[in-house]
Amino acid sequence: MELTDYDLKQVLVDFVDYLLPELTPYESAMYLLLLRKTLLENDSRSVRIGKRTLADKIGKGSRGVKTNYAHITKQVDGLEKLGCVLIGDTARDGTLYTIRLPREIPVIAEKIGKPLSEVKDEDYFTDFEKRKIVFDRDDWTCYYCGDKITAENATLDHFHPQHLGGTHAKDNLRTSCLMCNSIKSGKSYDEAAPLILRSMQERRRRKLNQ
Ligand SMILES: [Zn+2]
Repeated sequence: MELTDYDLKQVLVDFVDYLLPELTPYESAMYLLLLRKTLLENDSRSVRIGKRTLADKIGKGSRGVKTNYAHITKQVDGLEKLGCVLIGDTARDGTLYTIRLPREIPVIAEKIGKPLSEVKDEDYFTDFEKRKIVFDRDDWTCYYCGDKITAENATLDHFHPQHLGGTHAKDNLRTSCLMCNSIKSGKSYDEAAPLILRSMQERRRRKLNQ
């Protein structure tokens, strides 16, 4: 989705209606600054920019004290958590930021896209009976390590983590053993996979040594 098929007026309306209530005032300022530096300035999603430049641009704050770097880090981290901005690598000339437009941000897309009742219908996480549907689907087997699970130790993992916009929908839930769930918790699959593998190897070794 580029600005041509999502016009600027709509971006601003969506920003005010949907994103502003989710952000702190400083995060809002940071989002607008990054929007200015990416799509508005060079028609690109990404920009490499240093913390000093961000600090210079973000304003003076309530006491006229120059914004410090720790503060900048906190704002961009907050934006990343909500899925507004993706933070890339850091090089000598700054950090790579990639911006998402309001409708592409998972929590916002969900608010705009579906009536609340429909979202509730898709909740397979909270409702006990619906959880069982997912366990049945996965044949009562941990999606990550393949161990069989029972009603006593079965958990559901959000494949795409909740803090990154993952929902309670059936497609986003995986049957998981307690161990794998505690390792995967809050991480993307790519981040968690090596840790899960290590834990599986350790468990197998312990079993052999018994
Ligand atoms: Zn497991």
